[in-house]
Amino acid sequence: MSGPDAQCDVLVVGSGGAGMSAAVAAREAGASVVVITKSALGASNTGRAQGGIQAAVGADDSTADHLEDTFAAGHDDADPALVRTLVEGGPGAIDWLASIGVPFTRDDGQLRIIRCGGARRPRLLQAGERTGAEMVQALRSAVRDSGAEVRESTSLEALEPVDGGWRATTRAKDGSRLSIAAGSVVLAAGGGLGGEAARIGEKSTNHPDATPEVLEMALALGAAGRDLDSWQRHPTGAIWPAGLAGYALPETTRSYGATLHDAAGERFVDELAPRDVVADAIIRIVAEGRGAAAPDGTMGAWLDTTAIDREHGPGFTADRLAYVHNRYLKQGVDITKERVLVYPVLHYRNGGLVIDEHGRTTLPGVYAAGEITGGVHGTNRLMGNSLLDTVVFGRIAGSSAAAEALS
Ligand SMILES: Cc1cc2nc3c(=O)[nH]c(=O)nc-3n(C[C@H](O)[C@H](O)[C@H](O)COP(=O)(O)OP(=O)(O)OC[C@H]3O[C@@H](n4cnc5c(N)ncnc54)[C@H](O)[C@@H]3O)c2cc1C
Repeated sequence: MSGPDAQCDVLVVGSGGAGMSAAVAAREAGASVVVITKSALGASNTGRAQGGIQAAVGADDSTADHLEDTFAAGHDDADPALVRTLVEGGPGAIDWLASIGVPFTRDDGQLRIIRCGGARRPRLLQAGERTGAEMVQALRSAVRDSGAEVRESTSLEALEPVDGGWRATTRAKDGSRLSIAAGSVVLAAGGGLGGEAARIGEKSTNHPDATPEVLEMALALGAAGRDLDSWQRHPTGAIWPAGLAGYALPETTRSYGATLHDAAGERFVDELAPRDVVADAIIRIVAEGRGAAAPDGTMGAWLDTTAIDREHGPGFTADRLAYVHNRYLKQGVDITKERVLVYPVLHYRNGGLVIDEHGRTTLPGVYAAGEITGGVHGTNRLMGNSLLDTVVFGRIAGSSAAAEALS
């Protein structure tokens, strides 16, 4: 076998929240780091996240409550040690994100904290309405400042164990290939549900780069997986106007008071129940013939967004939900005056690679973090817990991978 083209202590695959958090942490631990990512640094599902990030930072909240909510929403299927690590890492993750420049929204100097589906307390923090985009911007700068080597438009094509670690074969968008030798590897390539949706002909909320080949590669190498077929649907995928198909109205729309109705105007579910409960209820009423039809015949439920300004006063939607409001306005719909039609859309892979509290997969020297992993969310993720997962486990995986490579 000829020598590698490049060498590093830690190779990070992917540059969403998990990959970038891992890269920065591995650099902080003194490792040399190469990040490979399919397109531009930070292009990812993370950048699409609108709703926010959960962490028990409210005065009346606790990590114990966050743990119980996470565990219950995940149908008690989550790994208790991973959930504990997630929730206990929450407040520190928020402090770290703020320290690298994420501008968390404040009202009168206090962090704005919202209650969302499945949470018993207000726990969702936001950076404006595009929390994921703000996180990506701050993380991108942190990665650039860290001195990690970044190879954009470069995909992982193959991974093989070698003496002293792993050798990756990468393929750039121009077709050129490179081999990179690394002491340890962090897989942070996401859950790939966009690719799964395309395979079965469904729409999804995911970024076009969200395909599952890295997950599949790890499984083929013998890594243990769990709950791989547990896929989450976002309850409120837009079905009309057709130009919005695949867009999901954020959970905060319901947190602020939007209500769900069948064709006859009846409410049929607690809008702040866990995601799968709300999604299943919409699917059920449509199956029962109680759905409302879009002009092209697509069936769904009404999401009464006009209820928000009725509850909070005129201008509230335009202020707090400006992004959603404007997206619909561009399609000719004013959500403060008209309700909108929604149906669940494929969104998130609950399961993935088995990891321990150090982010170790069952393959020696291979770590993983973020949506590519399983066990943190059981079989139904609580809204806002995924962004937290990427930071908490991304940082853990990065520092553990660095420690192993340097030891
Ligand atoms: C529309 C939308 C809204 C969301 N809203 C929220 C929210 O409000 N709160 C919340 O907590 N969660 C939310 N989520 C979920 C959350 O954003 C994601 O689960 C999480 O950000 C995943 O982060 P990640 O780093 O694991 O993966 P991703 O962010 O998906 O990043 C994966 C990275 O891997 C790269 N990659 C993929 N394949 C390869 C390959 N072969 N080689 C090299 N690189 C590769 C990709 O290019 C990308 O950079 C939302 C998701 C979507 C799609």
